Amino acid sequence: MRQILRNFKVLMKQVWKIDRKYFFYLFLSFVSVGIFSYYTIKTPKIVLDMIEASEIDIFSLVIIFLILISSAFLLSYSKVLYTPVGNKIRYRYLLDILEHYIYIPYEDYDNPKIQSNIWKIMRPVLSTDGLQAFYTNIASLVGNVSVLLVSIGILFNIQIWISVLILIWFVVYTALSIKSADKVDEETNKNIQLKQDEWYLDDIAVDVAYGKEIRVFQLQRWLEDKLIALHNKLNILNKKNYKTSAIPEVLNDIFQFIRDNLIFIFLITMYFRNQVSIGEFASYSVLIIQLNNALMATSENSKQILSKHDSYAEMLEFVNTPKQSNEGKAIELKDNWIIEFDDVWFKYPENETWVYENLNFTIEKGKKIAIVGLNGVGKTTLLKLLLRLYKPTKGRITLNGIDIWDYKLDDYFDFFAPVFQEINIFPFTIRENICFGRDFTDEQIIQAIKDSGLTQDEMNDFDLDSTYMTRYLHPDGLNLSGGQEQKFVTARALASKRPIYILDEPTSALDAVAEYDFYYKLDELMKEQTILFVSHRLASTQFCDEIILIENKAIIEKGTHKELLEKGGRYSELFMIQAKYYKGREAI
Ligand code: ADP
Repeated sequence: MRQILRNFKVLMKQVWKIDRKYFFYLFLSFVSVGIFSYYTIKTPKIVLDMIEASEIDIFSLVIIFLILISSAFLLSYSKVLYTPVGNKIRYRYLLDILEHYIYIPYEDYDNPKIQSNIWKIMRPVLSTDGLQAFYTNIASLVGNVSVLLVSIGILFNIQIWISVLILIWFVVYTALSIKSADKVDEETNKNIQLKQDEWYLDDIAVDVAYGKEIRVFQLQRWLEDKLIALHNKLNILNKKNYKTSAIPEVLNDIFQFIRDNLIFIFLITMYFRNQVSIGEFASYSVLIIQLNNALMATSENSKQILSKHDSYAEMLEFVNTPKQSNEGKAIELKDNWIIEFDDVWFKYPENETWVYENLNFTIEKGKKIAIVGLNGVGKTTLLKLLLRLYKPTKGRITLNGIDIWDYKLDDYFDFFAPVFQEINIFPFTIRENICFGRDFTDEQIIQAIKDSGLTQDEMNDFDLDSTYMTRYLHPDGLNLSGGQEQKFVTARALASKRPIYILDEPTSALDAVAEYDFYYKLDELMKEQTILFVSHRLASTQFCDEIILIENKAIIEKGTHKELLEKGGRYSELFMIQAKYYKGREAI
């Protein structure tokens, strides 16, 4: 209960902040529904009494008609006013959740525990029966309470015991349905993995990224079987949940039947004993129907308002977690700067094994450094540490002697122009994809694209603002090959002109000729720039000032290509193996 009250306070504060007219709509609903309900009950009696007495008072009838029609209009209109408020707040929370996801420190974001919780956190805002229903039901409850007050007030005057009985059952039924709704919610949360699986599995069927494998490996049947198995499990869960919520419903149907018959028997007896007129009989019948409807609706409203609070609490807790802070020292770039890895140890939070033990090296302004090593030795991890996506477990990385984690995040990120291994092109225009929110001139954008090796033809005549980068959302958008996409993301980095270029396997999707061109151009273009790049192709590192070879959680060799070959150590061994391999391939 305490949790419900706590959520209630937060959710009401939110609506006050976002659209406080909502409370006026509630008031409007309360008053108009009350008036409408009162006159709906009273009118049959007034009209029938007039007919019985043969005294038709047209003026009173017109007034009643006007009251009925204007209150009916107001109550419908209040619904039109308050219903969108719930939707508005749902979208506000959705935005808040997504914003939190965007601002979550990468280290937490990359954590499976957070990722596997996405569906649960988003549950209240994904459909209209979560938070949106909460607000709509509060408004609707206010109207129904108004009907109840009017109806029970009138019924109290005729039969107190029936009224008490109805009220008692109403409380019991509402409590039972809330309990069952909570049980359903709890059961759904317990089976959250099923919902997560549904979320991902449905996506596999429609996401183009999986399209080729599904067809060529003929995964259709296999995927279908998985979907059917999942849907069967979801059906079982649904059935179980339905059974839980059906118990109070069935009990209520029985009670309603008894209650309505009792009241009718009672009214008929009163009529035959001449204790009520035919007009009163008609009015009380309307009252019973109205009371019945209002009670049902009130229970439903209460259920919607008082259940699912575990999910709301989880969502509210998530949106209250602090966003990544941008506090820290401003970076003042001097003519010279230096980044130092100072005895850095690192292991991923969920893992036992160290990726690095005692890593020491420096990146000086203007240097071109290649990080090489076999798959899985930790090359990308090193970039993540440098880019402040992960924090060293021990030791520190400094920029001009100050821990990189002490700088303002924005300032620090502005230091790097990264090209990540996974190519991500956003479904926006060419300009938006290159600029990423910054202002570059057309010339700057086009130059960067040309420098990356893409041609005017490939880039739709450099039509920067009406060419979209994806064909799936925009049918006449570009459809680039893997290699072209890799060049395009490089163009993005080139346009940004930041102090350090970070290139993680920037040529993995390029053919040999394009790879050669890429490095030739890079060497020519970036005489002054600092580049840190990761490659497993040792031949591509020859233009670098320094090559760092990683193996066994540390740097095992350091030097220029020539020096390392002359040394005849591990680098030279790996280089020979690769050279032989490539030669062999060429011979084929
Ligand atoms: P490389 O770039 O040299 O191929 P990585 O830096 O990607 O290697 O990975 C180094 C090691 O860290 C590998 O054993 C990999 O499985 C592990 N690893 C990479 N990313 C994560 C992660 N997010 N969580 C846990 N382990 C990871």
